[in-house]
Amino acid sequence: MSNYKIYPIFVGITTRDRSQLAYQLDPGKKVESPLICWYLTDGKHKVMVDTAGDPADGVKHMPYTQTEDQLLDRALLKIGVYPKDIDTVILTHLHWDHASNNHLFPNAKFYAQKKELQYCVAPVTGHEKIYDLPVIFKTKYEIVDGDAQILDGISVTLTPGHTDGSQTVLVQTEKGLYGLVGDLFNLYVCWESNPRLVNGLHTSIQACYDSYAKLEKLNAFLLPGHDYRILEKKCYP
Ligand SMILES: [Zn+2]
Repeated sequence: MSNYKIYPIFVGITTRDRSQLAYQLDPGKKVESPLICWYLTDGKHKVMVDTAGDPADGVKHMPYTQTEDQLLDRALLKIGVYPKDIDTVILTHLHWDHASNNHLFPNAKFYAQKKELQYCVAPVTGHEKIYDLPVIFKTKYEIVDGDAQILDGISVTLTPGHTDGSQTVLVQTEKGLYGLVGDLFNLYVCWESNPRLVNGLHTSIQACYDSYAKLEKLNAFLLPGHDYRILEKKCYP
C-alpha cells in the first residue's frame, strides 16, 4: 500500500462573510479566506487535488488577491514540483476557486464526479456564477460515478451537500487515513462545533449532514477547504 505525503498549496485570498463559510455563524463579519489546493506524492505518483482559481478570471467571481509567489505554478516550483510532471488531478468539485488552473497540467489525467459534471450546468438558482463553464469544459475528464479507487493509496467518496457532486479524496499516509473534504466544510469550526455547522454555501443541509455521517465512520483526519489552520503545517502527516 502506498503512503502519501500531503502538501497544502496556498494560492491567494478572498474576503468573505464568515456566515458564507460557516452557516449562520457571525453574519456581517468579513474574514479573509485562503485559497488552498493540494499536492500529494508517494515518491512515485505526483497528484494534485484541485487546481484553485485562475488569477486571469478570478476577479469575475469574487475579489481575490494573490502575490506572484502564490501563482500555482510558482508555488509548486517552490517545493520542487514541475507542473508538467503531475500525472493525476482529482477535483473535489468544479467551483471556479477549485478547478480553474487545469491548463497548467498538460500530462495529467483529470478525475471528476459524474454528478458534479451534470450539476454544474444547471446548479441551484444563484450558484451559476460560481461555475466557469467554458473553463470547466476545456478539460477532458475521467468520469467517476460514486465511490472509487483512483490510485493505490488514493480513493474518492461522494460527499454532496456543498454541491450535488462534491467528493472527498481519501489519502493513505504513514499515520493513517486523511480526507480532503473540498468545501463540504470550509472551516474546522464547522466540524468541531456541537452540533456541527454546515458550509454557508450549500445545496442541501440534509446532504451535508449525511456526508458528515459517512465521513465520521471512516475515522480519518479531515482537512477543510479554506481554513488558515491548514497552513500551520507545510506537510501532512
Ligand atoms: Zn466550493
